Amino acid sequence: MPVFPTVAHQPKGNAAVSMHVPVHPVWTCAACGRPWPCPSRQRQLLAEYTDARVSLLVFLSACFVQACADFGTTPAGVLYRRFLAWPHEMPIDPDR
Ligand SMILES: [Zn+2]
Repeated sequence: MPVFPTVAHQPKGNAAVSMHVPVHPVWTCAACGRPWPCPSRQRQLLAEYTDARVSLLVFLSACFVQACADFGTTPAGVLYRRFLAWPHEMPIDPDR
């Protein structure tokens, strides 16, 4: 049974539905074909979870666990950097 959450966080009221969703089990972006989360989706997720960084990390953790199962032989460190490290490397909105 997949652990990928269907709803981990309610986006802000004016958040649009993203086209940058993962294609399973290869975890490429359905919109741009880049590895998911692509840069566009990363920016969207940061905006959607502006006041809920812990919720963002819970969501990404579930994605990470599912990706570990889907990729099998890919080292966990590689997937950790892809799914969980990037929010720590991106600045918090400087206008806040
Ligand atoms: Zn994309």
